[in-house]
Amino acid sequence: MKIAVARETVMGERRVALIPDTVSRLVKQGLEVLLEAGAGEAAYFSDADYEAAGATIISDTAQLWAEADVLLKVSPPQDHDGYAETSQLREGATLIGFLNPLGHPEGIQSLARRRITAFSMELIPRTSRAQSMDALSSQASVAGYKAALIAATALPKYFPMLTTAAGTIRPAKVFVMGAGVAGLQAIATARRLGAVVEAFDIRPAVKEEVQSLGAKFVEVPLDEETVAEGGYAREVSEAAKERSRQVVAAHIAQADAVITTAQVPGKKAPLLVTEEMIAGMKPGSVIVDLAADQGGNCAYTQAGRDVVRHGVTIIGPTNLPASVPVHSSQLYAKNILTLLNHLIKDGDLQLNFEDDIIAAACVTYEGDIRNTRIKDALMVESAVSAG
Ligand code: NAD
Repeated sequence: MKIAVARETVMGERRVALIPDTVSRLVKQGLEVLLEAGAGEAAYFSDADYEAAGATIISDTAQLWAEADVLLKVSPPQDHDGYAETSQLREGATLIGFLNPLGHPEGIQSLARRRITAFSMELIPRTSRAQSMDALSSQASVAGYKAALIAATALPKYFPMLTTAAGTIRPAKVFVMGAGVAGLQAIATARRLGAVVEAFDIRPAVKEEVQSLGAKFVEVPLDEETVAEGGYAREVSEAAKERSRQVVAAHIAQADAVITTAQVPGKKAPLLVTEEMIAGMKPGSVIVDLAADQGGNCAYTQAGRDVVRHGVTIIGPTNLPASVPVHSSQLYAKNILTLLNHLIKDGDLQLNFEDDIIAAACVTYEGDIRNTRIKDALMVESAVSAG
C-alpha cells in the first residue's frame, strides 16, 4: 500500500503531513511511503532525511497523486478556476487532511463524485479515545501559544512585573476570550511570560482549567444551555450575548492585551469585542483575534492584517500553526500516524463504520457523502444559487 505525502500548495502553508520519524515508523510496518520532492522543505525536513527514513522521493506531482493509495495533506486541496488538485487522484484512492468540509462542501461533493474515500481531520471526534488523532487540538494549541507571543511583541510594554533600579514595572493585564484548546494555551503562555491573566468563556466547565493555569475566570451567568454535542459551544441568544458583553466590557477596558479565540463549529465567529469596547480601551493596547479566518471576534478585524483604531492595534493572524512549522508538522504527523494505524489492518484499509472515529471523520465513501451537515450545507448553497 502506497502512502503519499503531497507538497502543500496554499500560500504560506509551511507544514508537511509526515515528518521523517513518522515515515520510518510506517516503513517498518511494511507500508511504502512516497514523498513529493521538497514537501518538507519549508518545515526544514530535507528530502535526504525522508529518503534516509525509507521514503521514495517523486518530483512529478501528477505521478505522486496518481500512484497514491492514500494521499496525505495538511491544508485543503486547491480547487479553483475549474481545476481541482484532487482530480489527479485515481478513483477509489483515499485522501486525508483538513478538508474544510463545512466551509467548502462543493469540494467534498466532487470527491464523492470521483469515488474518492476522504477523511476530514476537522471531524475527528473530540473524545479521549481519539485524542492522539485530534489535529484540531494539536494545531489550536500551537495557535494559542503563538497568539500570546504576538500580543507580547506588539504591546509597547513589558508582560512581566519587573523590579529594577530604575523603578518598578507593573505586569501587563491579558484578557483571553474563549478558553478552548487555543485559549488555554494562550493563557499558559501569557502566564509564563509573567502577565496577569483573566479569561472568559460561555462554557462554565472551563472555569477550573482556567484557574489551574493561574488565571482568573470571569463568570457571566447565562440562563441557557451553552454547550452543544461533543462539548462544543452552542450559539447563544442575542440576549445572552448582550449580557456577556456588558460583563466583559469592563475587563476589556482594563486589559493591555486581549486574545480572542471564540468559535462555534460551522458558524461565523461570534462578535465579542464591539467598536464601542475598542474605543474604551487604553491607547497602545493590542487585540489578537484568532477567529480572523471565521469572520473575527472583534469589530475591525481583517484577516491577515493589522488594523489600528482608537490607538488599539487589532491583529487578525491567519494559519498561525504554519508559522511554527517544525513542531506543528511533528504533532500533525503523529495525529496522522495514529489515524493510519487505526484505519490500516494487515496492510489494507479496513473501514468499520460502526467505529465512531471512522464514522465521524470519513466524509465520502463509494460515491456517497456520509455526513448530514455537509449535505445540508450543499442544499443551502444550491438553494441560494437557485434563488
Ligand atoms: P473552539 O475552537 O470551537 O472554540 C473556542 C472556545 O470559544 C470554546 O471554548 C468555546 O466555548 C468558546 N466560545 C464560543 N462562543 C463563545 C462566546 N460567545 N463567548 C465566549 N466564548 C465562546 O473550541 P475547541 O478548543 O476546539 O474545543 C471545543 C470542545 O472540545 C471543548 O469542549 C473542549 O474541551 C473539547 N475538547 C475535547 C477533547 C478531548 O476530550 N479529547 C480534546 C479537545 C477539545
